[in-house]
Amino acid sequence: MATAAESRPPNIVIIFADDLGYGDLGCYGHPNIRTPHLDRMAAEGMRFTEFYSAAEVCTPSRAALLTGRYPIRSGMCHDQFRVLRSRSLGNLPDSEITLAEALKTKGYATGAIGKWHLGVPQFNPGGHPRKHGFDFYFGLPHSNDMDSTPLAPKAAPKLAEQKAEWWNAPLYRDEKIIERPAEQTTLTRRYTDEAVKFITANKAKPFFLYFPHTFPHTPLFASKDFLGKSPRGLYGDVVEELDASVGRVLDTLRQEKLAENTLVFFTSDNGPWLIMNQQGGSAGLLREGKGSTWEGGMRVPGIAWWPGKIKPTVQRTMASTMDLFTTSLKLAGAEVPNDRAIDGLDIRPLLFGIGTVEREAYFFYRGTRLMAARSGDFKAHFMTQASYGQPKHDEHTPPLLFNLKLDASEVHNVATNHAAVLNQITQAVEKHRAALKPAPSQLVDLAPLGKP
Ligand code: MG
Repeated sequence: MATAAESRPPNIVIIFADDLGYGDLGCYGHPNIRTPHLDRMAAEGMRFTEFYSAAEVCTPSRAALLTGRYPIRSGMCHDQFRVLRSRSLGNLPDSEITLAEALKTKGYATGAIGKWHLGVPQFNPGGHPRKHGFDFYFGLPHSNDMDSTPLAPKAAPKLAEQKAEWWNAPLYRDEKIIERPAEQTTLTRRYTDEAVKFITANKAKPFFLYFPHTFPHTPLFASKDFLGKSPRGLYGDVVEELDASVGRVLDTLRQEKLAENTLVFFTSDNGPWLIMNQQGGSAGLLREGKGSTWEGGMRVPGIAWWPGKIKPTVQRTMASTMDLFTTSLKLAGAEVPNDRAIDGLDIRPLLFGIGTVEREAYFFYRGTRLMAARSGDFKAHFMTQASYGQPKHDEHTPPLLFNLKLDASEVHNVATNHAAVLNQITQAVEKHRAALKPAPSQLVDLAPLGKP
């Protein structure tokens, strides 16, 4: 006889690190950042070697995960502003259907804990997570460096020594600011406390926990239990505390006997912020980082865990954060919206080892510019750009072409040897562009560009 837990749809937990690079976890080859909980999660579950975020910076990446759509479709990207700032008016449009809204149609309890970055409720109540399907919210509305006090030196995010009084990000509980500036040293621990509480309080019904961490985005802060402990220095301290947070979430699911009815997915919103020097992470063998559509900017760790359902596997088929939208809805038995383009695919065949997933092409946007496209093992770059903070871009005619299976670091351009592949990718881009209806930018700033 089916138990109550088996007959109800699975819980969904998405843990989303901020600016964590492909090479920053033990299970992805980092030599001295210690991540035993994520390593165990990967060993028990599915570790993707070619998992992509849908943008190379925070705001569009989050919009894509929660809507299953390239951010150009929602207008949550823009060549000038690129991300929401602490004095922005824009927000995720009400017309978008978020994963939380769609899961609510199946009776899910929904909570968002952590960095939102899809609207600034202080200036725009429509930007609040509770206006986009979440019953509960606890966290910062934007990046932790986006509202600084006059005490902060200009290079503050890069400095090894960080002072709490430099920063002024507000901490929300639902609609209320409960702390300003947010005490960032204890933020990861407090987010985790809230996540454990949310899971425990909602264990009797299906739930969706969206858990986008504030870190390891700079400025970096760790609690006293982790500060000064990692051989990798402060960045390692911060990642090791995130790892412990994942361990607490998984332990809670085990203790509450929910593990076998919960899909947990861990990933990152974009690659490492390389210009932060020692305060930034590593993309491992991948080229470039945050802000770039080279692999290091968008290929990120991706770990799926569901004891009894997902077998221990290394998954070498590509997948994306947008797929989490479609896949979660399928798992919940909810409708995938059919009145709009949805870019995420149903990757249940990969997760459960029961088949393949056909993807014609995957597109790499920077703002509204389609920079690159991948089809099969090959990726063509029409334009390239170095990491965040380095504005110059290069156009490539003919495009650069790399075989990602043979050359993950994108060093050896093979365009001249594979004219047919290049032609096929170019046609896929033209087809995508012809069908695309870009939304107007939602990213409107109150403050002049460059001011927090
Ligand atoms: Mg980010």
